[in-house]
Amino acid sequence: MGQSDEHHAKVLILGSGCAGWPAALYAARANLEPLLITGSAPGGQLATTTMVENYPGFVDGVMGPELMEIMQKQAERFGTRTVWGNVTSVDLSRRPFRLRTDGGEEYTGEALIISTGASSRMLGLEAEQKLLGHGVSTCATCDGAFFKGKDVVVVGGGDSAMEESLFLSRLVNHVTIVHRRDQFRASRIMQERLLAKADKIAVKWNRVVADIRDVNAGKVTGVVLRDPRNSEVEEFPADAVFLAIGHVPNTQLFEGQLDLDKQGYLLVHDGSKTNIEGVFAAGDCVDHVYRQAVTAAGMGCMAALDAARWLGENE
Ligand code: NAP
Repeated sequence: MGQSDEHHAKVLILGSGCAGWPAALYAARANLEPLLITGSAPGGQLATTTMVENYPGFVDGVMGPELMEIMQKQAERFGTRTVWGNVTSVDLSRRPFRLRTDGGEEYTGEALIISTGASSRMLGLEAEQKLLGHGVSTCATCDGAFFKGKDVVVVGGGDSAMEESLFLSRLVNHVTIVHRRDQFRASRIMQERLLAKADKIAVKWNRVVADIRDVNAGKVTGVVLRDPRNSEVEEFPADAVFLAIGHVPNTQLFEGQLDLDKQGYLLVHDGSKTNIEGVFAAGDCVDHVYRQAVTAAGMGCMAALDAARWLGENE
């Protein structure tokens, strides 16, 4: 390394999800001694999920947190340095690139791989912010156990909503899925699994959550549902609201420095290259189409190979 400093790396990697660790693995195996900064949600989205059945290589599936631990160990085995922290500012205007963490530390890198992933989308209601952690949740596997024997609402119509509902149905008294259309977006296999649980899971079609009630002050007691077709509203009692309405990319840090699309996803060309030379991006902060663990891992690999090639050409 040019600066043999523990705060300097040839390759800095931001994010410790399904793109970050494979990027670190490939960079480490190319002798680039990458330094990976985990971000505020180590392990990314899979760290808060249960069984992953579609990651190749695991015949019987693997638990999400375990898969992330395996990826980390594999990357560290080849020399990846891990920093537990969150990056709060970046300066990509000159090289080496500079990042600052919430601990006040500064890190520099000749090349940078951004794999900051995506976070749960929120409904945008005032009550939702107030009641987050008090009956409003974005993670059934984290919070489901608090609502044993209760009645809960899951919002969304994608695979996450199906998965969260199936998981919750094993714990709670009853699940009602609230979906804004009359058809699910979820894959057929997930929809079929849901149908098989019709005794525990009901669906409110064509409804949006217009408000969340907490008549017991500080604890969810119900939701206000609105039919978008005619704006009719109804009160619906519930002890918890689980949001599963997709994700937004974690790219706010790069606004004004890197090119983003209208939804905030990082724009890349020729594989993983951003508009700044030496800055590469991979995973859910780039991809709003596939968004799978295995595609994120592949993109992490691509970013590391692109970074290694670029460093080789520019040394
Ligand atoms: P998603 O596929 O984008 O689905 C989001 C759902 O939320 C959609 O049904 C959408 O409605 C609804 N929605 C979005 N914004 C809303 C709002 N403001 N108010 C009400 N509803 C709203 O997201 P996801 O379910 O998180 O899945 C993301 C990716 O991960 C997908 O590729 C999925 O296949 C994958 N995944 C796979 C598995 C698995 O295979 N086991 C599990 C989880 C996730 P519309 O349908 O009307 O747009």
